[in-house]
Amino acid sequence: MSYENFETNAIRTQVEQTEFREHSVPLYLTSSFTFESAEQGRALFADEIAGNIYTRFSNPNNSELIEKLCLLEGTEDGIATASGMAAMFVSMAALLQSGDHIIASRSVFGSTHQILTMILPKWGISHTYVDITEPEKWEAAIQPNTKMIFLETPSNPALDIIDLEWLGKLTKKHKLILNVDNCFATPYLQTPAKYGADIVTHSATKFIDGQGRTIGGAILGNKDLIKQIRFFARHTGPAMSPFNAWVLSKSLETLAVRMERHCQNALELATYLETLPQISKVKYPFLPSHPQHDLAKRQMRLGGGVVTFELKGGLEQGKKFLDALKMCSLTANLGDVRTTATHPASMTHSKLKEEERQAVGITAGLVRISVGLENIKDIIADITQAIQHSS
Ligand SMILES: *Cc1c(COP(=O)(O)O)cnc(C)c1O
Repeated sequence: MSYENFETNAIRTQVEQTEFREHSVPLYLTSSFTFESAEQGRALFADEIAGNIYTRFSNPNNSELIEKLCLLEGTEDGIATASGMAAMFVSMAALLQSGDHIIASRSVFGSTHQILTMILPKWGISHTYVDITEPEKWEAAIQPNTKMIFLETPSNPALDIIDLEWLGKLTKKHKLILNVDNCFATPYLQTPAKYGADIVTHSATKFIDGQGRTIGGAILGNKDLIKQIRFFARHTGPAMSPFNAWVLSKSLETLAVRMERHCQNALELATYLETLPQISKVKYPFLPSHPQHDLAKRQMRLGGGVVTFELKGGLEQGKKFLDALKMCSLTANLGDVRTTATHPASMTHSKLKEEERQAVGITAGLVRISVGLENIKDIIADITQAIQHSS
């Protein structure tokens, strides 16, 4: 069953009601499922009929979450994983083999960078990084053994945008798998599958949860690729807990209204920050000063919940600013109802070498704000007093 509109699918996609006539979907905390007969057990294991066997393979709460995410992203099938990183790793490990090559945008999440540079090479899978702002270099980077292109847009924390329509055509032309980490935008702001992404990966920990409670991830895509991914996941065990699937499916019910307000607050904050003399640069996809503002408007419904800015005075000023915040939380997470502030150079991207940070635009004074759902006046007041105290 599906509906015309995003909000309705996010709310009305539910596990079938039980004999108890509950209105809210219950939590199925069970490791296994019983067979009505030996014959049914045989048929389930032989994949002749569909149904639950064991929670490492499937569970009603996980299936509900995946069915819902597929409707929102416009994909055929998917699996839920224990974390966003499990989704990134499994989407690569299940589809690639020794000797294969990945092209990845240089601006990827810190742990994704570790997978590409330190983990996949152990099994002979190599990569080439290309810059999100130099699209002409992507086609030139394709080798005979290239199998996948992986990227995030907007990127973290540089908030650069890549043209998904162009990339969808490029990957079709060269028969490559296009894998897009859609964590920053969420399906409410952008649906990469529409532009030809074969795989859409998520850290559900961020805006999908939206309240900083659980870790989770998802891999969505076409049936054939998900079949290979499901085989890999079923036997290697990165399954999401049904409890987290239950939390996240309920979170999705409010994703649209939350994203509307996250984006409204973020644009208001970014516009205000641009007027302050203590700040040298503000970046937000829907600010006219963003270098890819037109592209962002074309491919995203709204600008997202993350704003970055550069304090004049660099690292020292940045640290003083963070210590002077009274309300905003100092934490590595993002996509929370609470506004959070991070210093990428010393926190999320500290494992990168200095020149790697430079290459993805992480300067010493860069501050990343994930704008929450508190009243925007209070968010602006806290950030303003912290800027005044740090300069
Ligand atoms: C947080 C994040 C991840 C990793 O997700 P976890 O749920 O923390 O494992 C991957 N990609 C992006 C863009 C992220 O922000």
